[in-house]
Amino acid sequence: MTHAASITNAAEWMKGAALGDRRALSRFCRLLDDLSALDSAARSEVLRALYSEVAPRGTWTLGITGSPGAGKSTLVSALLHQLRALGKRCAVLAIDPTSPFSGGALLGDRIRMQDHFQDPEVFIRSLATRGAHGGLSRSTADQLRALRLWGAEVILVETVGVGQDETDVAAVADTTCVVLTPGMGDDVQANKAGILETADVFAVNKSDRPGAERVVSDLQSMLALGRITRGADAGPIFGARHSGAGALPQRSSTGEGAEYWEPPIVQCSASLGQGIAELMAALTQHRDWLNNTDAGRERLVERRLRSARTQVLAAVVDVLRRDHGASLDELSHAVAAGRLDAHSATTQLIAVLGSSAGVVTDRT
Ligand code: GDP
Repeated sequence: MTHAASITNAAEWMKGAALGDRRALSRFCRLLDDLSALDSAARSEVLRALYSEVAPRGTWTLGITGSPGAGKSTLVSALLHQLRALGKRCAVLAIDPTSPFSGGALLGDRIRMQDHFQDPEVFIRSLATRGAHGGLSRSTADQLRALRLWGAEVILVETVGVGQDETDVAAVADTTCVVLTPGMGDDVQANKAGILETADVFAVNKSDRPGAERVVSDLQSMLALGRITRGADAGPIFGARHSGAGALPQRSSTGEGAEYWEPPIVQCSASLGQGIAELMAALTQHRDWLNNTDAGRERLVERRLRSARTQVLAAVVDVLRRDHGASLDELSHAVAAGRLDAHSATTQLIAVLGSSAGVVTDRT
């Protein structure tokens, strides 16, 4: 695409998306995904235009993460039913971290979310990460912005992985739901740190199968351990015990006990539609906690800052690789051969970056 053509198309698609046109949004998202194919000036112009548009405030970004086959797509579809019943305009970003050639997960999403394809108030997009670091594609933040522009009130971001990748989804999502299933007790133990770091709500899906109670009790002991580690200063804990589809933890999102959020555990069965309303309620409670308490608002600001930092760092790495690949190679060789130390190499790279990009460092 030429510079002029891509700019004209981008502007047209973005305008259409902002007016609620799903086709225009779809094209615009695809362009955002392929931005690296544009030259640097066109890329900057598209992004500047995207970020100068005022996106509606108050969009709720809901991350759904878990191992392949945990039932995430089925769950997303069930949650969409709930949200649509409330009249919410929804978008789904299903992120497939595997190679773009596998296709399997994307096909699965399409089948399980087919109930919603005809709904003009639902936009669904599958995205391959093409080996980007972490679980999210480089363009995820930009796509989320486009979805907000389109008017999505709730954006569900579905990602694979309970390990290190999902910490990325936690950075872009306001509320993160970690999906576990019976028979995953060992996984829970193995991924303890990642899970604790990430989950705002635990969904123990496939609770129609034996072994769900074991996952719940594993999670409970893990949370109890976390409570001990945090010590007495951690503030009151509420909703400590929860089990059984249908029951909800008792917690207030404002007032006493609001200064700390302990992830509730909700058993559900996405394919049978059981426990979904309860899961939705737990997720909504977390959103209310974020919006209505000092601790929640702090958490939101901190997460957004972390997400921004990750994006900026990723962009710096992109610029280095793309525009200064030769310097990077040369300096890496020198470090590998023991001719230069890594610190000096870094200083030199920063100098190269600074001189070419005209960076002004504010030292005041
Ligand atoms: P994903 O890979 O995490 O998105 O999982 P899918 O939503 O594609 O589901 C994987 C398989 O689990 C499918 O065959 C679903 O029908 C099935 N499944 C999803 N939820 C449940 C559930 O609650 N109970 C049972 N028994 N099977 C389920």
